[in-house]
Amino acid sequence: MSIHIDPYEEAKKQLRATIEILGLSEDVYEALAVPERVVQVKIPVRMDDGSVKVFIGWRSQHNSALGPYKGGVRYHPNVTMNEVIALSMWMTWKCSLAGLPYGGGKGGVRVDPKRLSFRELERLSRGYFAAIADLVGEDLDIPAPDVYTDSQVMAWYLDEYYRVKRGQYFGVVTGKPFDLGGLIARIYSTGLGVAITARELAKKILGGVEGASVAVQGFGNVGYYAAKFLEEMGASVVAVSDSKGGIFKASGLNIEEVKAVKDKTGSVINYDKADRRVSNEELLELKVDILVPSALENVITEYNARNIKAKLVVEGANGPTTTEAERMLTEMGVIVAPDILANAGGVIMSHIEWVNNRMGGWVTEEEARRKLEERMMNSIQTTWNFWESKLDKNRHNLRVAAYAVSVDRVVRAMKLRGWI
Ligand code: GLU
Repeated sequence: MSIHIDPYEEAKKQLRATIEILGLSEDVYEALAVPERVVQVKIPVRMDDGSVKVFIGWRSQHNSALGPYKGGVRYHPNVTMNEVIALSMWMTWKCSLAGLPYGGGKGGVRVDPKRLSFRELERLSRGYFAAIADLVGEDLDIPAPDVYTDSQVMAWYLDEYYRVKRGQYFGVVTGKPFDLGGLIARIYSTGLGVAITARELAKKILGGVEGASVAVQGFGNVGYYAAKFLEEMGASVVAVSDSKGGIFKASGLNIEEVKAVKDKTGSVINYDKADRRVSNEELLELKVDILVPSALENVITEYNARNIKAKLVVEGANGPTTTEAERMLTEMGVIVAPDILANAGGVIMSHIEWVNNRMGGWVTEEEARRKLEERMMNSIQTTWNFWESKLDKNRHNLRVAAYAVSVDRVVRAMKLRGWI
């Protein structure tokens, strides 16, 4: 599955294409292609057996024209600096498209968290946050969960910040546990946003999401909740997968049952009511109406794009479709709901959490959900309208529209600040 494509190169290609569409100058491209700051840190961790292991981490701060940097931190054995830079650039566009007062940032630590004990994970998390403590802050850079980081990791970050800075700054990270200023809705917000995007686009191109067949790659926080909400909306989720493989059931899976099996055994493949197992690669090529890649980058490439049968691809993950693959999908008439639109639910909810923390206030789950729904609907409609009215649909997919809207907003802010 992992063919070598540099996500930063992909991100720059997408930016380049947008700059051309918007008729902007090379200076603007240069001003946006390079992140404002990238820091590499060394994190020595005392392991349970007494030895010391060194891990490497990064924080990339791409652009701050619209406000403080915002974006998650991922723990993954293959994380690279360029990947973190690309992800921080995507956060700039994502926050801009959603109309949030944030720039883009991202962090990463090269580690396989599944091989650490709970206490080792705590020491690693505290070590990482202490190392970047001077770069982050409620008004500066606000980390959040991403691949293999969760609310417990955010709790350690918050507490480490308290130790280092001697202040209870609840707004320094989002995606926190409920008891430490987090929102209940944050846990499912990215998946809900993905499902809302699928529902709205299905209305436009499939005659509705009810009865539509769906395959979801990845059963982590994004994939699981996307599958669950799509099932609730009346879609038939026929396939899901995780890093160990996937399962298929023509009549539709019961997502809660699959989740229970995953929690108990560590993988969805142990669910015994499926028709058959499928590999992660096969899952992408299933004959379904909607495909939701919710795992990692670069899974839809020039090598498998032709075999995709879905009419709608909704990007739950960041960067799952390469530029070349997207060109092919566009030619084939497949609509791609890009990551910066489809998976913005997480950062939208992060913003609601952050505002709530800073006001010392109280937002109900219903209110938070209503706000999320409103923002998502708004971005989907704005993107769709731009695509319909300004672009050649046979040449450009929805990503180009989403990028045009978001890059334009960032460029306006940079001009107002006198940066360009
Ligand atoms: N990691 C998530 C993303 O890629 C959420 C970021 C956030 O909430 O700041 O959008």
